This record gives sequence, structure tokens and C-alpha cells, in this order.
Amino acid sequence: MARLGVMRTPVIAVDGPAGSGKSSVCRAVAARLGLRYLDTGAMYRAMTWAMLDAGIDVDDADAVARHAEAVRIISGTNATGPTIHVGQTDVAGPIRGDDVTGAVSAVSAVPSVREKLVAIQRAEVAAAHEAGDGIVVEGRDITSVVLPDADVRIFVTADPAIRAARRAAQDAGLGKDGVDVHQTETDLLARDAKDSTREASPLLLAPGVVVLDTSDLTLDQVVDRVCGLVADLPG
Ligand code: C5P
Repeated sequence: MARLGVMRTPVIAVDGPAGSGKSSVCRAVAARLGLRYLDTGAMYRAMTWAMLDAGIDVDDADAVARHAEAVRIISGTNATGPTIHVGQTDVAGPIRGDDVTGAVSAVSAVPSVREKLVAIQRAEVAAAHEAGDGIVVEGRDITSVVLPDADVRIFVTADPAIRAARRAAQDAGLGKDGVDVHQTETDLLARDAKDSTREASPLLLAPGVVVLDTSDLTLDQVVDRVCGLVADLPG
């Protein structure tokens, strides 16, 4: 629990590769500390869903950039029930589908898509600040590009085999058929490679960012560590 004198409106930036457990950690930290929560991966997924829905070829960067101008993405930042809409459409379910997962790295590599979504992300942080709330923001470029001055900056990672096992369990939990852990690991590493080698805001470990390897830690242990970093902030 937050102690007296502990910063009550921290901005916490969290990056990490697919399946690192960062979403579970971020939501739990936000819920425990009473902070807002923004999943920027869901925003890139929602943008990708909009491209597929409109029949846009995601490998045609110009077509993606053109269509992105018209797409309206709205994120609900309640940690216990985050939401994601494209216009009026609730896309929380469809953005977890294999078609979106397979296309999202191409869409998120387009610079104008990133500019648009980064502006929304910074506006969400400003809105939280104005309302007197702290916020946890997770993604791939949050510690490096979106919020380099965040109060706490963390890079969450884990061994690839463990990340694949977690993601496969998550997919099975979502009711996906034929989940294969080896295929999951191959897909996850391919997505990491694309996200880490793209020109626009790649996933990287920025200087000064705290690394949390969750391979041998339970969710509670990781949440405790993050909350410990918040507790160490000047009040
Ligand atoms: O976190 P999640 O796996 O849902 O992210 C989906 C994809 O969105 C990533 O693989 C990456 O391509 C993109 N992404 C990004 N920048 C962020 C968050 C996600 O490029 N800040």
C-alpha cells in the first residue's frame, strides 16, 4: 500500500517484449496504487484492426498512413476494466486475434501511425495529471520516446521459452484453438525482431531504465518490486 509521503500521482512507464508479463504487472500495479492504466499495444492493435477491417494492405505503408488519418481510437484507462474502441466499435476481443497479431508490427512501423498514437498517449497522461491521478503506461517505446521523463521507467523481460509458455496459456484461456507453445515462441520472437529492428522508435533498453527479469518471479513479486520503486520516489 502507498505510504504517507509517497508520490500519489506517479507516471510509470513500462516497456518490454511480447509475453513478458508487462500487461498483468501494469494492471496490478495500477489497481493496487489507484492509478490509471494505458495499454498502448492495444492502441496499435486497434489501428491494425481498422486497417484489416477496411481491406488495407498493411505492407503498403502509404495506404496505411492515409487510412490512419481517419481512424479514431479511444482508450478507457480504468485499471480494473480498460476498454478500447475504434469509433463506436468495441474491439477489445478482435484485437487479440491472430490476424491482428500477425499484422500489427507492420502497421506500428509506419511513422505517421506512431505520431498519431503517441500524441493521444501523451494527451492521456496530461489528462490524468490534470485530474490529479497517476498513470501506468505500457508499450515498446514508452520509456524511450513517449515518456522519457516518467517518474519510474521499467523494462520488463523474461526468457523467450517462459514468455511463449505464458502467452500460449493466455491464448488457451481466451479460447483459441490449437495453441502450440513452440509455434507461439517462433511467432513471438519474429514479432520481437520486427519491433526491435524497425527504424521508427524500436523496442530498446534506454539508459537509466530499470530492468525487471520476471522469469523466476511470481506476478505478486514483480508487482511488489514495482511498487517498491514508486515508494522510493520523493514524496
Ligand atoms: O503489447 P502488445 O503485444 O499488445 O503490442 C502489440 C504490438 O504493438 C507490438 O508487437 C508492437 O508492434 C506494437 N507496439 C508498438 N509500440 C508500443 C506498443 C505496441 O509499436 N508502444
